[in-house]
Amino acid sequence: MRAAKVRDAAYRMRHHVLNMGEAQGQGYVGQALGAADMLATVYADQLRFRADDPDWDGRDRFLLSTGHYAIGLYAALAEAGIVDVAELDTYGSDESRLPMSGMASYTPGMEISGGSLGHGLPVAVGMALGLRHQGNGARVLNFLSDGELDEGSTWEAAMGASHHGLTNLTAMVDINALQADGPTAGVLRTEPVPDKWAACGWHVQRVDGNDVQALLDAFDRISTEAPSVILCDTKVGKGVPLLETREKAHFMRIDADEWQICRDQLTAGYQGVPA
Ligand SMILES: [Mg+2]
Repeated sequence: MRAAKVRDAAYRMRHHVLNMGEAQGQGYVGQALGAADMLATVYADQLRFRADDPDWDGRDRFLLSTGHYAIGLYAALAEAGIVDVAELDTYGSDESRLPMSGMASYTPGMEISGGSLGHGLPVAVGMALGLRHQGNGARVLNFLSDGELDEGSTWEAAMGASHHGLTNLTAMVDINALQADGPTAGVLRTEPVPDKWAACGWHVQRVDGNDVQALLDAFDRISTEAPSVILCDTKVGKGVPLLETREKAHFMRIDADEWQICRDQLTAGYQGVPA
């Protein structure tokens, strides 16, 4: 039941991503499709929020550290009812509240302006500390990428979180094996990733980040003794075979006549019928 709800949300979010990408002719579509199951799990199952009051003090804070994944977050905010679906058509346009790289001051429900990369987790640690000081029981969820594991600031924050016993903090790492300069393994070897988080004092789980049930199970098992990280292996372009099989690039080019093919493949795959 929970899983079906999240899968439906992820499917609709992937459509939103393709529609926004087509409107601008570009966008970080591959990453957003890959991370859609993670974002859907967060927004359709985990986060406490009020759609009509995005600044409600009791809300859980979701921090998108990867500002360039904003197209994916906008899809999630639409699915959550915080942004109207119709507003997605303005994505990336002048005067839009939905710029191509995420800006917290523009977009309702967006907690931080993510990127430069490596800043999300340090901010999340500060927020989690602050909420605890205030006696506010809200949680902080930080979404970061495998490329951000190259950044010293990420590991300083990881050590700080466990030092301060921030059980109100959960990190999700999108391990799509790709970053701006190429395949992650070739830029800077970060494996074994679980061992590094464990050494920093975190409760660690690693799951298939495109398996909704596995994501839900991981959230059900997060620790009450330590900050928790869920390492999520994802596939760039997930749900659209045309993009899943295309040569992987940080910025994926999609031709004008391919968007409808992408949508058709997404629908066919979700309904279990041939495209
Ligand atoms: Mg990556």
